[in-house]
Amino acid sequence: MALLQRMVEIESPSDDKAALDRMGEFLAHEFERLGGKITFYPQKEAGNHLQAEFTGGEGKPVMLLGHFDTVWGMGTLAKMPFRVNAGRAYGPGIYDMKAGITMMVFALRALQAAGNGHRPVTVLLDTDEEIGSATGRPVVEAVAEKSEAVLVLEPSTGPEGYLKTARKGVGDVTLHVRGVAAHAGVQFEKGHSAVVELARQVLEIVKFTDLSRSITVNPAVLRGGTRSNVVAAEASAMIDLRIARAADAGELEKKFKALRPFDPKCSLTVTGGINRPPMERTEATVRLFGIAREIAGGLGLALQESSTGGGSDGNFTSAMGVPTLDGLGALGEGAHASHESIVIEELPRRAALLAGLLQSL
Ligand SMILES: [Zn+2]
Repeated sequence: MALLQRMVEIESPSDDKAALDRMGEFLAHEFERLGGKITFYPQKEAGNHLQAEFTGGEGKPVMLLGHFDTVWGMGTLAKMPFRVNAGRAYGPGIYDMKAGITMMVFALRALQAAGNGHRPVTVLLDTDEEIGSATGRPVVEAVAEKSEAVLVLEPSTGPEGYLKTARKGVGDVTLHVRGVAAHAGVQFEKGHSAVVELARQVLEIVKFTDLSRSITVNPAVLRGGTRSNVVAAEASAMIDLRIARAADAGELEKKFKALRPFDPKCSLTVTGGINRPPMERTEATVRLFGIAREIAGGLGLALQESSTGGGSDGNFTSAMGVPTLDGLGALGEGAHASHESIVIEELPRRAALLAGLLQSL
């Protein structure tokens, strides 16, 4: 709890390099004290990504994957301080996922203290997961490529703390409409409204959603126009995409490319697409889950599988074909919300589960 509190009290928003690098240095010191070999992957604008390698027995390393950026801006701590109440600990980023990183430290420490052997372990923590892992992704993939399996310490699912064996793929698309501006009173008929065109396009785009295949398309943010007495020249929409199967990405992206303007004097530009492939429920992942469930049983934990619409860096490693088990982190609730918290008494058991996994893989 002392380590977790210190981590929560070092704020680390995704968009603040100085803050992230402070957090990285703190974590590097913790892993170095355990005998880890530290490597930073320096970044210009993002925080430096952190790797800690631990030697072990035979074979390829097991990768422990996580991120130390949070969705909380600098200064959040003043309104939302670390606090403990009724068996829960609260604070920005505690559940997603500073408690998960704390578990990595204590699982490794426990294995060392017990003198129990394990495979080599590579800890990889990146700094831009919450904003799409643009710079973290190649590092995560390079490490995963050399790993036997990937254990992701992202939050678990629900009050029972289920693991995640499937995650949806995520994407975003921006649709930009260019129309023709005109005075709304003097030359209305000369205008071609980008706002009206966008409104019609949105009604087409929502038809791309197919719940029977778990494909969702969410036109989330619409912008357009300048003043009420001007026929709008510009409008745009930001659209969130989710898919359950990698095979659906191409077809969905094609539908966006096939959009044509209703008003031929308006033009459309589509940018973006799927940027996180889905983590599909592969046989290798199910096998990993089976091992985890057996270890959990010995700890009095009844583990189950779950799937989620949210993405993580586990999506990348799973899409590469590396066996990936996600949601091994803390039990709690309120990720990205002001009631973000973890259940304190479950922490040691979850860390024991992780240690058990490292020993058995
Ligand atoms: Zn996370």
